[in-house]
Amino acid sequence: MSVDVMAGREIPPSVREFLGTAGVLVIDGEERGSSDGGTFTTVDPATEEVLAEVPQATAADVDAAVQAAKRAHDDGRWRGLDPSKRASALFKVADALKKHANDLAWVDTLDHGKPLKNALGEIISASNCFRYFAGWVDKAMGDVIPARNGRFVYSQREPVGVCAQIIPWNFPLLMAAWKIAPALAFGNTTVLKPAEQTPLSAVWLVRILTEVGIPDGVVNLVQGPGEGTGQALIEHPDVDKIAFTGSTEVGKHIMRTAADNLAKVTLELGGKSPNLVFSDVEDLDKLARRSAFACFYNAGEVCTAGSRLVVDAAIHDELVSKVAAAADGTKLGPGWVDGVGMGPLVTDEHLQRVAGYVDIAKQDGAELVTGGTPPDDLDTGYFFRPTVFDGVTPDMRIAQEEVFGPVLAVQRFEDEDEAVALANDVSYGLAAAVWTRDVGRAHRVASQLQAGTVWINTYGDIDTTVSFGGMKQSGMGRELGPHAVEAYTQVKSVWVAT
Ligand code: NAP
Ligand code: MG
Repeated sequence: MSVDVMAGREIPPSVREFLGTAGVLVIDGEERGSSDGGTFTTVDPATEEVLAEVPQATAADVDAAVQAAKRAHDDGRWRGLDPSKRASALFKVADALKKHANDLAWVDTLDHGKPLKNALGEIISASNCFRYFAGWVDKAMGDVIPARNGRFVYSQREPVGVCAQIIPWNFPLLMAAWKIAPALAFGNTTVLKPAEQTPLSAVWLVRILTEVGIPDGVVNLVQGPGEGTGQALIEHPDVDKIAFTGSTEVGKHIMRTAADNLAKVTLELGGKSPNLVFSDVEDLDKLARRSAFACFYNAGEVCTAGSRLVVDAAIHDELVSKVAAAADGTKLGPGWVDGVGMGPLVTDEHLQRVAGYVDIAKQDGAELVTGGTPPDDLDTGYFFRPTVFDGVTPDMRIAQEEVFGPVLAVQRFEDEDEAVALANDVSYGLAAAVWTRDVGRAHRVASQLQAGTVWINTYGDIDTTVSFGGMKQSGMGRELGPHAVEAYTQVKSVWVAT
C-alpha cells in the first residue's frame, strides 16, 4: 500500500504567507527580482511539489550585491558602529530566530525534507550561534609588542572586508548562521549565496537582520546555481574573502579561483568519517543505535556523518546485525509526520547519485546487509532506505568517497594499530569517533586520528563554542569557537615613535 505523503501536512498560515513572498534577492536593502527576470524553482522533496519561484541572480546582480557590500564596508556604517550597538543587534537576531523557530523549522523541512523536530533543533542552534557571536563583538583584541628601539607597537584586529559566503543545502538556516554571525560580529559585510535546492529560509533570516536595524548593504542575498551565480561571486575582484561550505571538488575550484584576486579563503568540505568501536564497549544495543544515528541522521546528508563503521572483529557480527536492525527500524516519511526518523533525499538527482554508489559498492564486492533501494510504500518523494554494506575494504570506492546519503560502510579490524590505519586511510579528515572503556586507549587513539573533530564515546556533538573544521582534504581554517576570530579578521601592526 502506498503512503499519501500529503497527509498531516498542515503548513502554518504564517509559513504559507512567507512562501508567497520568498522569491527575492536582497541587494543593498532592497528586495528585488533578477535583472533579466530569470527564475528557478525550489521543490519539496517529500511531495515533489514546487514551493516557490526564486529569482536567479545574474552576473550584474552579483556585481550590484558586491558593490553594495563594498560601499557598506568602506563607509564604515557597520564596522564603525559602537560595539555595544552591533552586539545588541546580533542578540536581537538570536531572539527573533527563537521567536520564529517553529515557522523557520517548517520552511527548512519543506525545502530540504528533514524531520520537523530536527529542523527545530537546528533553528535553535542558529539562534545560539548569533548569541555566541554577539558576545564576541567587543572581544577581538590586539597585542602590545616589545619591539626594538623603544618603539611602541601594537596590533589590532580589523574586519577582512567583503565576504562571499557560499553554503550547501543540508542545514540551510544553520549554515547561513554559521557564516553570517561571525562575519558580522567581527565587522565584515557579506554576500550570501544559499544552495539553489534550499534557498528559502535565508530570505527570512535576512529580513530579520533588516528588522533589527543592521544597515542596508551589510548583508546581501543572491540566489542561483553555483555555475553562474556562484561563479560570478567567487570571481569578483572586490570580494576580499570567500567562506565556503560544500564539496571538496568545488572547494578546490574555489581556492584556484580565489588565487586570481588573492581573496582569503576558508573551506569546510566533505568527509568520510570513521566511527571506531573497540570490543570493550558496554552496551552494544545503545552503540548500534548511536552508530546508525551517526550515519543516517539527516538522511546521511551530513558532512561529519559516521559513514564508516570500523569495528573490532570480536564484536563485528553482533554489532552489524544490531545496526542493520536499527536501520530497518527507522521510520521513513515526510518530515511533518510524527515519529519519522528520516525524510527524503534533497533532490531526485541526489537520489540517483546515492543509488549509483550502491551499485558501485556491489560491483566492488561489498556485501549488502540491508537497504539499497527506495522504500516500497513511498512512490512520491525522493526517499531511500538506510543502507548497510559489510566487508568493505580500503580499495573500494565506498570506503573512500563521500556518498552524502544514508549508506554505511563497515570495515573490520583485528587490533588497535589496524583500527587507526584504517581510520586514517582516506583523503578526508573532518571527524572521527572512538568507543572504548579503556581511558588510555581512548586518548591514544584520539591523538592519532587525522580529523578536525574527534569524539570519545559519543558521536556528532557540535556547538558554536567549539572550533570546527577539517584536516587533510576536508578543509582549511576553523569557523566556530574562538578560532573564528582568525577566519574573519586581519591583523594590523602599528608602530609609534616615542
Ligand atoms: P557543492 O555542490 O559543493 O555546493 C555547495 C555550494 O557551492 C552550493 O551553494 C553550490 O551552488 C555552490 N557552488 C557549486 N559550484 C560553484 C562554483 N563554481 N562557484 C561558486 N559556488 C559554487 O556541495 P553540496 O552538494 O551542496 O553539499 C554537500 C557537500 O557539502 C558535501 O561534500 C558535504 O560534506 C559538504 N558539507 C561540509 C560541511 C562542513 O562544515 N565541513 C557542512 C555541510 C556540508 P548550487 O548547489 O546552488 O549549484
Ligand atoms: Mg527544496
